[in-house]
Amino acid sequence: MTELKNKILSSKNIIITTHKSPDGDAIGSSLGLYHFLKKFDLNVTIIVPDSFPSFLNWMEGTSEIVIHEKNEAFSTRLIESSDLAFSLDYNGLSRIGEMGKILGNSKSYKILIDHHQNPESFADFSFVDTNCSSTSQLIYEFIEKLGESSKISKNIGECLYCGIMTDTGSFKYPSTTDRTHEIAASFIKLGIDVSKIHNEVYDTNSEDRLRLIGFALTEKMKVFHELGVAHIVLSQEELKRFNFKKGDTEGLVNYPLSINGIKFSALITEKENEISLSFRSKDHVYVNEFASKHFNGGGHIYAAGGRETTTLTETVEKLEKLLKIK
Ligand code: 5GP
Ligand code: MN
Repeated sequence: MTELKNKILSSKNIIITTHKSPDGDAIGSSLGLYHFLKKFDLNVTIIVPDSFPSFLNWMEGTSEIVIHEKNEAFSTRLIESSDLAFSLDYNGLSRIGEMGKILGNSKSYKILIDHHQNPESFADFSFVDTNCSSTSQLIYEFIEKLGESSKISKNIGECLYCGIMTDTGSFKYPSTTDRTHEIAASFIKLGIDVSKIHNEVYDTNSEDRLRLIGFALTEKMKVFHELGVAHIVLSQEELKRFNFKKGDTEGLVNYPLSINGIKFSALITEKENEISLSFRSKDHVYVNEFASKHFNGGGHIYAAGGRETTTLTETVEKLEKLLKIK
């Protein structure tokens, strides 16, 4: 760690990258690390493949984040000229889309900090714990291992708390441990306002979003009680009807899992260029294997995602066959 610390402190151009469709943990961990590195007057930029939901905008530093899709030339130059690159909350270069190739070809020293299953070996240094609640928790552990936890300030705490809170379903998933709470408590001691963070993330629904959730649960959720599975399918047309914005379907896939006897839930949404699949499960049904084997994806054992380039109908048919619905 001493060697690594010296390497970090002597870097001229540092970038922090995180996965496509960044979530609370992706943005929270990136900003937490960003604010930490800034304390050493380092030159740091966060680059994300595409935009993130507006309910994360309250975190300090979001306006400095470079979105690759919106500023390709600038982002490419930043990646190519970086001498140190952090990869946060993703386990393989394909998870950052087109940026993956550019980062893979760059000469930068690569540090991976992640908690997803089956990490690929693209980094020079990996700080990975697949049992950890979140990458944000790992950022805390990483800073502590560097011997610098006294540098963790309130704004770092806010960002990391947001990542831990969103990735643990507000401290309820089995990945939540005494350590997770200890770390959260240390942020509260720094003065973070947990109610404010909760409100910013969860209580900022638009009318459109609430109606979309209502529509999805009433009209689109299909429950197959005898198989213990459920799914929700949303087409582009349906999403457009509710003026879909990024983040509007966040959390939707969890609802069917709360039905007694349902152990597998899928949300299938028709995006502009692909079909996106989101899986949640419990009780020893492992969706990361399912997602990587059948839908070009992966993730965690009880929360994973994937994608298809065929049509919505074909994707639903494929899923239903695999689940023995058809
Ligand atoms: P979500 O359903 O929320 O999009 O994703 C659930 C979890 O699976 C998240 O931790 C996400 O990062 C991960 N995930 C989603 N898609 C993929 C994928 O294609 N590959 C891998 N390795 N992980 C994914
Ligand atoms: Mn995560």
